[in-house]
Amino acid sequence: MLSTGTATVVKNAGSHYLLSALPAWEPFPAVLKGRIRLKEGGSTNPVAVGDRVEYTADGPVDEQHPATISRVLDRRNYIIRKSTNLSRQSHVIAANLDKAYLVVTLFFPEVKLPFLDRLLVTCEVYGVPATIVLNKVDLYREEAQEYLADFHRIYEGAGYRVLETSVKTGEGIDALREDCKGAVCLFSGESGVGKSSLIRAIDPHLQPKVGDISLAHLQGRHTTSLYEMYRVQTGGFIIDTPGLRGFGLVDLEKDEIAKYFPEMLRVADDCRFAPCTHTHEPGCAVKQAVEEGRISPERYNSYLGMLEDDGKFRQG
Ligand code: GDP
Ligand code: ZN
Repeated sequence: MLSTGTATVVKNAGSHYLLSALPAWEPFPAVLKGRIRLKEGGSTNPVAVGDRVEYTADGPVDEQHPATISRVLDRRNYIIRKSTNLSRQSHVIAANLDKAYLVVTLFFPEVKLPFLDRLLVTCEVYGVPATIVLNKVDLYREEAQEYLADFHRIYEGAGYRVLETSVKTGEGIDALREDCKGAVCLFSGESGVGKSSLIRAIDPHLQPKVGDISLAHLQGRHTTSLYEMYRVQTGGFIIDTPGLRGFGLVDLEKDEIAKYFPEMLRVADDCRFAPCTHTHEPGCAVKQAVEEGRISPERYNSYLGMLEDDGKFRQG
């Protein structure tokens, strides 16, 4: 008997997939119809974790009788990784994300703000709401009170949420677990910041296996199996990315960059000239906001750095 349905891709391992009718969690195997494979030529994977797909099944589904993915529904958003080689292929890491947690630590390892700002811009470009998770606060809260306060001022001022966590003391973990509920969440962070520890603290059943994977690995053909969605027992779904290297490269035109700094976007309408690069123009509302302390100099500097780089940048 032929049945059809709609489900979400929770695992992508080469040509084999696991689908699940979220928010329920009973993953079942599926394969792809030949025709879809050809459709999206530029991407190495036409179907990504998080994709909503239509499938058909010819009787009960099991390993020997997988369902067939017949159509990929339009994506609300997605993040891609472009390969660095000349093939110009791109790889969709995940689709239909509700939020991205960018895990950083003020120290051990020390976060570089321009680097974080580029990640935030990447999230803005992809249309994925970003939350900053400041982990390991047990290690530097006392010693770096001022910097910690500055950090909150800079990023909350720009419009981002900043959650403080410590896997060691357990603080902030309940709040993070609560925050994951009912959402498909991407976790991203430089290796060593405690990303895997955090995921395990949220749900001890989860054993993220993605550790420190070299960039060379990511260039290979078998990258697809790296991405997987996990269900949090208390609710919500987590997609782990193997370090920030996997998380994007966006090419922006110079005059687009400011749009992805939310605090700049808010005032840019008031610039005297349009377009305005917000660097030297008279009557620039952004520069005025920096002078008046409404936009942080750190964020503005990151913007200038990106302008100099011609908007093309690579993480990692
Ligand atoms: P990942 O590479 O981002 O997945 O980082 P891991 O989860 O492997 O953690 C890296 C190291 O930092 C490990 O030795 C953890 O025990 C340690 N760590 C993680 N979170 C915390 C924290 O909140 N406080 C302290 N003091 N150490 C932490
Ligand atoms: Zn301006």
